[in-house]
Amino acid sequence: MSKKTLTILHLYPKDMNIYGDYGNVLVLKRRAEWHGYEVKVIDYNPGDDFPEKFDILVGGGGQDSGQDRVQSDLQKIGPKLKTMANKGAPMLVVCGLYQLFGKFFQTQTGHVIKGVGILDIETFAESERLIGNIVTKSHEFGEIIGYENHSGKTYIGNITNLGKVIKGAGNNGKIDKTEGARYKNVIGTYMHGSLLPKNPKIADWMISKAATNKYGTFDKAKIDDGIAKLAREHASKRPR
Ligand code: GLN
Repeated sequence: MSKKTLTILHLYPKDMNIYGDYGNVLVLKRRAEWHGYEVKVIDYNPGDDFPEKFDILVGGGGQDSGQDRVQSDLQKIGPKLKTMANKGAPMLVVCGLYQLFGKFFQTQTGHVIKGVGILDIETFAESERLIGNIVTKSHEFGEIIGYENHSGKTYIGNITNLGKVIKGAGNNGKIDKTEGARYKNVIGTYMHGSLLPKNPKIADWMISKAATNKYGTFDKAKIDDGIAKLAREHASKRPR
């Protein structure tokens, strides 16, 4: 019998891929393989043919200039991304692409980079950058450990946040102490790090959603997360 397959779409790896974000793709691929799936990774950059089918989407952060470069292509593929999000595809978007999965990102010079509006969030850059290790108490995944580096302050509208910031800044560092946003199976977050190596619960959740969407079931393998546990302990004690 041939193996079940899962396809990961890596959104804009050339322009939006910073502070270890590529590690998220590697972790999803390897853990899905450990769970018994054959995994294909498709890199999608501006101008490429958008794949007809994928099971998981991952996108990272970048400079304001990178966000500018992907803007028009993102508007083009936006409706397709929206359809997939509404169908329940698991998606993880970090920092720069988190902002652009929202309504817009306004840079410090007042330049507005349009988003696709999958997440009901708005982001405004300020002069102070929010940088350092971050710990969030999430609603679904327990404690999430990551690293943030952004000038954008995000304000969330009629949408659930990912959790409460315990250490660090999160969405805006002041008003509400929230981090990230959730819509269906889309997770938007400021946490780089990479995020998934230190938070395998989220990786397995994404894989289980993808597998259930495609095959109706997910058979979880037992994986030794001892090293991830040590990395979590170590990272959460690091100073800001
Ligand atoms: N340019 C955006 C900001 O500074 C995104 C940064 C990032 O993705 N790390 O807010």
